[in-house]
Amino acid sequence: MNLVERDLQSIWHPYTQMKTAQPPIPIVSGKGACLYAEDGKKYIDAISSWWVNIHGHAHPYIAEMIAKQLLQLEHVIFAGFTHSGAVELAERVLAILPSNQKKAFYSDNGSTAVEVAIKMCLQYWYNRGEERTKIIAFKNAYHGDTFGAMSVSGRSAFTAAYDTLLFEVEFIGLPGPENIDALKSQISNLRSQVSSFIFEPLVQGSAGMVMYEAKYLDELMAHCRKEGIMLIADEVFTGFGRTGKPFACDHVQTQPDIMCFSKGLTGGTMAFGLTTCTQQIYDAFLSDDKMKTLFHGHSYTANPVACAAALASLDLFLEPSTQQNINRIVNKHAAFAEKVRGHKSLKTTRQTGTILALEWQTGDNTSYFSGLRDKLYNYFLNAGIILRPLGNIIYILPPYCITDNELDYIYATIAQALDEI
Ligand code: PMP
Repeated sequence: MNLVERDLQSIWHPYTQMKTAQPPIPIVSGKGACLYAEDGKKYIDAISSWWVNIHGHAHPYIAEMIAKQLLQLEHVIFAGFTHSGAVELAERVLAILPSNQKKAFYSDNGSTAVEVAIKMCLQYWYNRGEERTKIIAFKNAYHGDTFGAMSVSGRSAFTAAYDTLLFEVEFIGLPGPENIDALKSQISNLRSQVSSFIFEPLVQGSAGMVMYEAKYLDELMAHCRKEGIMLIADEVFTGFGRTGKPFACDHVQTQPDIMCFSKGLTGGTMAFGLTTCTQQIYDAFLSDDKMKTLFHGHSYTANPVACAAALASLDLFLEPSTQQNINRIVNKHAAFAEKVRGHKSLKTTRQTGTILALEWQTGDNTSYFSGLRDKLYNYFLNAGIILRPLGNIIYILPPYCITDNELDYIYATIAQALDEI
């Protein structure tokens, strides 16, 4: 049996319809923005492998730091013990976050970073003896696949089988000039019961790269702050440069109380989660009363190898050449969007930083499951580009090291697809 046949016998892939899905493509190596298949074919990873990769595949510097760490200390229980990687990473990340972020809590991935954030907020009010258990979230939000994260995500085909088991959330629309006042009154009416407001700042990735203005997010955040509602910025996707600035919250004035990170945190090399919070939240847990403890911890919390990967990724992220690359991608995306704007096959284009989304004209079927999605996916795969549409929406969010030639090839292939599909 070849690798694909063995895969089909033994593996259950995520987000894959088992009967109708195409067989997976075996990948053997990666370099820069490219992945190489078993049959020798090269693919440009235009979506950074589910949005995680920021410095390119198999980066030698990150690999070297991981190897070094593995030979020194692979893991240690993170209750009652610590290690230099965890401390250094906390200090260095907190130093570049909004200035009110004072404590770092490690976990395993984006969903767990969100679970921790939700538990911190709910227990913050519990520890203070106030019954504020409601959470506000955006209608089409996506915050992860675990039950808490699913609960604060929009109800959709992804959650349908569990909807009756998810906890109740107050869903609101995205803020804009037409509804900002109505949203503020809605929040004020609920305020005494609300613990927190969780949001994907500026870009809702899984909803279809839906973008909204920083100005209205800021107004909504400031209003929640006034009402004593904790602000949870889920930067699992937007963190580490995606929006053009280091963090999406750098585009607003109001500082969140809690921030969630994963994906780009390790440059896309290892599963890792980080939740940061203010001193005020931390202090609500600081007590002689054992019941005030945050009872949450994963076996691999603050794994030293993941910390080493994150520190190495941070070194690269803070190099001036990385910001130059981000600016280069932002400008090239904008020029391409301008070029195809008004094309008859396009409904809209939208861009925030290094994220460019193009919405295909479809007539009626815009769903995640639309046939157009598979057609587009295969068209780009055949051309050696990994672009994984969300329904009729294709998006490019490449590793920052992608070359101009690679970007130009992606744009040219999209332009051709617009004429042909
Ligand atoms: N929050 C956001 C905004 C995300 O985009 C994602 C993943 N796409 C998650 C949380 C969940 O992260 P993970 O897949 O690492 O659990």
